[in-house]
Amino acid sequence: AGTLFVVATPIGNLQDMSPRALQVLKDVKLIAAEDTRHSARLMQHFGIGTPMTACHDHNERDKGGRLVERLLAGDDIALISDAGTPLISDPGYHLVRQAREAGVKVSPVPGACALIAALSGAGMPSDRFAFEGFLPAKAHGRRQRLQALAAEDRTWMVYEAPHRLLECLQDMQQELGGERRVLLARELTKTFETLHSAPLAELVAWVASDSDQQRGECVLVVEGAPAPEGDAVGDDALRVLDLLLAELP
Ligand code: SAM
Repeated sequence: AGTLFVVATPIGNLQDMSPRALQVLKDVKLIAAEDTRHSARLMQHFGIGTPMTACHDHNERDKGGRLVERLLAGDDIALISDAGTPLISDPGYHLVRQAREAGVKVSPVPGACALIAALSGAGMPSDRFAFEGFLPAKAHGRRQRLQALAAEDRTWMVYEAPHRLLECLQDMQQELGGERRVLLARELTKTFETLHSAPLAELVAWVASDSDQQRGECVLVVEGAPAPEGDAVGDDALRVLDLLLAELP
């Protein structure tokens, strides 16, 4: 059987395309792309003539079956999305799952990923972290999700559309408090790349006062909630635990 290569493409700067990714895209029989017209520009830039087929959210389940048949027949296929790593807030999950269930070898060709790039430049604890994808687009759903995340003690990231950035930050200030530190990573790897971190109250004012900050693609990196205060509670709990342990046979 062939191999399904899951290939990351740049998130802005074309020089982030790795030599191995280019080689794989040249060598495979077929490229399954989220948007073939969008990716045609990338292929043209790098002189890659491999045939492409569309594989996106709306056709992925059906298309997946046909692609797996070709893989089983021996063809190597590469999966790409419009930008960055496939499956990360991008299509690909169904195809990869179907391929694995059919026993097809799946081989990731890693590269750019906006959330990892943002985290690597944030200077926030990165030993444990969480990725929340896109928050709900509507205010009510977004606030509910933010409430559920308010006590998260790991650093966490979300993707956000530029036209919702300001209201998202305002909701964050409401639900997480004005002192919570957030990093705005905008236009990563591009000419106007900006990484700016501040407590939410300041960040909201900064973004509101400068409409340039409301343009382009962005990632928000949110510092985890501070540990709950008061060792007294912990000590109490430990004393109770000691008493309970003493009762065990
Ligand atoms: N698969 C991609 C990845 O690996 O990062 C993410 C795809 S998702 C549909 C697009 C979102 O990723 C954008 O709305 C933005 O939040 C984030 N993003 C992509 N490129 C970015 C960049 N150059 N700078 C900042 N954020 C970016």
